[in-house]
Amino acid sequence: MSDNQLRLVWIYPDLLSTYGDQGNALVVERRARQRGLDVARLDVRSDQPIPTSGDIYLIGGGEDRPQRLAAERLRRDGHLYQAVQNGAIVFSVCAGYQILGHEFVNDLGQREPGLGLLDVVSVRGEGERCVGDVLADIDSRLGLPPLTGFENHQGVTHLGPTARPLAQVRIGKGNGTGDGTEGAYNDTVFGTYMHGPVLARNPQIADLLLKLALDVNALPPIDDRWYEALRNERIAAAQQPA
Ligand code: GLN
Repeated sequence: MSDNQLRLVWIYPDLLSTYGDQGNALVVERRARQRGLDVARLDVRSDQPIPTSGDIYLIGGGEDRPQRLAAERLRRDGHLYQAVQNGAIVFSVCAGYQILGHEFVNDLGQREPGLGLLDVVSVRGEGERCVGDVLADIDSRLGLPPLTGFENHQGVTHLGPTARPLAQVRIGKGNGTGDGTEGAYNDTVFGTYMHGPVLARNPQIADLLLKLALDVNALPPIDDRWYEALRNERIAAAQQPA
């Protein structure tokens, strides 16, 4: 962060915002402002260059064709990769998560190269599409409460040795590999299958991104009773027998 301004970049709202993922940008922006930070939010359309000076980048979910177009443009642009080499934080959802991996299967049934920012490979699941509520315990190293969200994907994501599972599902499919893992992360790049939008349902992850970007261990607390009530309500609903 320079000039005491947090630069938040939302990548390709024109292609990857099918599932209300704009909410993730709103939540990070608001929680940063609530901590007195000056925030510059930049929504970068797919015909614009990605800035390399961002502190936090958000990339959302999308349908198969826009996902392929987004991957092509991000590869051609090259700046997101550069930003991560400079230490930027990236948080990605579903199609965005798959794009950050080494490859995924596109709408034409072909293997599409990703950006290689996460050590994951996505394939097309052979079974039913993964659709429904998710309840997951986040990696204990992150020390955060359980996550709730909603997934809707056909892709199945396999983690390589340098990607850690973000969470372990209690309810839902997550990465779809059958091992119960959900999402993946390394030191600065995060991916999840959860919509919701996921940061509105789990603002503790927004705070994690802010702490990483600011390089601090703690942030001034926010009154999160409303979020907690929502989480508890979702946990109770997810545990109801079908
Ligand atoms: N098209 C991808 C899949 O189905 C991603 C879907 C999404 O972003 N929700 O796996």
